Amino acid sequence: MRADILAWSVPILFCALALCFLFLSRLHRSLLWWSAGFFVASIGFAMTILPTTPGSVVKPTIEDTMFLIALAIANAAFASRAGRRPRWLWLAALVVAGSASAAGGLSIMEGSVLHEVLAVQSACAALMLLSAYEMRRDEGDLKPLLLGLCTLIAISLLFQNALLLSAPPDGLTVSNWRDTDWGFVFQLNGAATGVMLAICVILTTTLDIIARLRRESTVDALTGALNRRGLEQRVEALRRRAGRAAPIALILCDLDHFKSINDGYGHEAGDAVLCGYAALCARILGRDGLIARIGGEEFVMVVADVDLEAGATTAEALRVATRRVLWPGRLSGLSLSASFGVVALGADEPLLGAIDRADTLLYRAKANGRDKVVVEAAGQPVLPAPLPRLVRHAGVLAR
Ligand code: GH3
Ligand code: MG
Ligand code: MG
Repeated sequence: MRADILAWSVPILFCALALCFLFLSRLHRSLLWWSAGFFVASIGFAMTILPTTPGSVVKPTIEDTMFLIALAIANAAFASRAGRRPRWLWLAALVVAGSASAAGGLSIMEGSVLHEVLAVQSACAALMLLSAYEMRRDEGDLKPLLLGLCTLIAISLLFQNALLLSAPPDGLTVSNWRDTDWGFVFQLNGAATGVMLAICVILTTTLDIIARLRRESTVDALTGALNRRGLEQRVEALRRRAGRAAPIALILCDLDHFKSINDGYGHEAGDAVLCGYAALCARILGRDGLIARIGGEEFVMVVADVDLEAGATTAEALRVATRRVLWPGRLSGLSLSASFGVVALGADEPLLGAIDRADTLLYRAKANGRDKVVVEAAGQPVLPAPLPRLVRHAGVLAR
């Protein structure tokens, strides 16, 4: 009776989980893998309900193969989470080896399931250990949980094998296996494993989606530079890290006559110029600089531990680089220039206040003929600076 309840409820539960994952796969592609894995496992569990003729090899082998394929798909899901291609060859080899030894065990032992169970559980444990190995490059917060769970499942399967081997029960056949205590416990363990995996998948996927939304809410979708909210957050973090007394330079940059690029080459080419330009500036600013797109063709750059004078030098390097960009493809004839306003960001000054001050200087640079750097209360000429190095990025080259 209890075996019947388990036998019916597990495939229904797994099928329901597969449908949930399929439905939610619009939010996260990796859920498609999990949907497929749980669906295949539900077929394996459903097949155990059908009666097995004594001495049968085909039906138990198909059941075993279903469980092995389900775990191979789970492995592919773990690998793609960690940004790797699934090792299909290894996975296929483990599935084939597990199924073949199970079938071999059944036919050689004339109906005894002992060797079949040992073979399948060993192959399942190997697949889970391979999954744990794939997790080593995962960068999610729940990596220890997933890694631990895969290892725990593998250990529990091997422990079950050790128990079976230490006191091999008599008379275990394919037709009575499901109704024995051993069969019940092993099936229960399989069901619990699936449920634990499902809970972990739901947790990790939810955290992944939250992290992605957080990232997207602070990044400009076109150029990959920060947006205004992202810049505010990063400047705050930078102030906390560097201390309030550390100087911070803010450079406001606006591309000159950008509208004529859109008019001459089309909006798509204009977008490519914006992307290439953001990448070029990020490369010149290096690790200590932040870049954000705050308007159509307007960028704010913030450089830590840099006073006004050094900020002006950086802006001049950016100005020269802008003129020297060699644009690829049909943009090859494009001559781009930009105007800059440079200010020092006050210790407790709101970012928007500093951007307003830089905007006034930028307006002056535009009025003075564009392709200029204007520095706040500098009173000194801004000297042209040598470019840091040859700058290559996103197909854009500055000499
Ligand atoms: P100025 O030298 O005075 O800055 O002239 P400008 O043409 O650069 O400035 P203006 O403000 O007249 O035009 C800005 C143009 O930038 C207009 C708009 O079509 C274009 N633009 C804004 N956002 C985007 C974008 O995301 N992609 C593309 N391709 N163009 C954009
Ligand atoms: Mg402009
Ligand atoms: Mg503008």
